Amino acid sequence: MSGKLIDFHCHLDLYPDFERQVSDCDRHEIYTLAVTTLPAAWPRNRDFAAATKHVRAGLGLHPQIVEERWREIDAWERYLPEARYIGEVGLDAGPRHYRSLQRQKDVFRRILEACASEGGRILSVHSVRAASKVLDMIEENLPSGRGKVCLHWFTGSEREAQRAVKLGCYFSVNIEMLRKEHGLKLVSRLPMGRLLTETDGPFTTMDGRPLRPADSEMVLRELATVRKLSVEEMRSVLLANLKGVTSRSITSEVAGL
Ligand code: MN
Repeated sequence: MSGKLIDFHCHLDLYPDFERQVSDCDRHEIYTLAVTTLPAAWPRNRDFAAATKHVRAGLGLHPQIVEERWREIDAWERYLPEARYIGEVGLDAGPRHYRSLQRQKDVFRRILEACASEGGRILSVHSVRAASKVLDMIEENLPSGRGKVCLHWFTGSEREAQRAVKLGCYFSVNIEMLRKEHGLKLVSRLPMGRLLTETDGPFTTMDGRPLRPADSEMVLRELATVRKLSVEEMRSVLLANLKGVTSRSITSEVAGL
């Protein structure tokens, strides 16, 4: 494999060989956002990431487990001062999680307010069947300039995507999106300057095995085809976008390319 890659949403701590996954990211130069599902996972992820050049840990409280674990928002808030990356957070209004939606909104609001108050956070946000609500809440609770949002595995409508673009959101694209007509259409129209890649491993699989950060190469290649760029051109765009989303300056976060 040659060239740097980006996996902006991967659950490294859910692989049986977490340590190995972390060191592989460094060895293969894959800039990886290691999202977590509970604040209890933060210290371990933080410590592993701190020893690397390419891995950053996200402080998370996953919407799909908020129903049972919402009390852990207190722990999440306690860790926030030491976390620059946040995720996985957001809303899930799919049939299995709909009944906890009000609780999810309460938790997500606290997360957004805390991020706005601290400033400078970068969030990887889940929005299954809840794109409009997620965007409403971002608009209300996280003023632009107080934080940056990357919508992970976005499945909202074209209009919702346009609204997200106006709000300054980035989009981390995975292979599942590129394999579905709706996702493909969406990805072909998003501003070039807002695109990132992700695997969402180990929740995504191919040929019966979970995807790993190195599979971002495949996402990069397919994305290049969709956007009619060479792989190297696409890689440069993505690396520039990564710089944009992680930069501390406010001026660089204005519109996409
Ligand atoms: Mn995920």
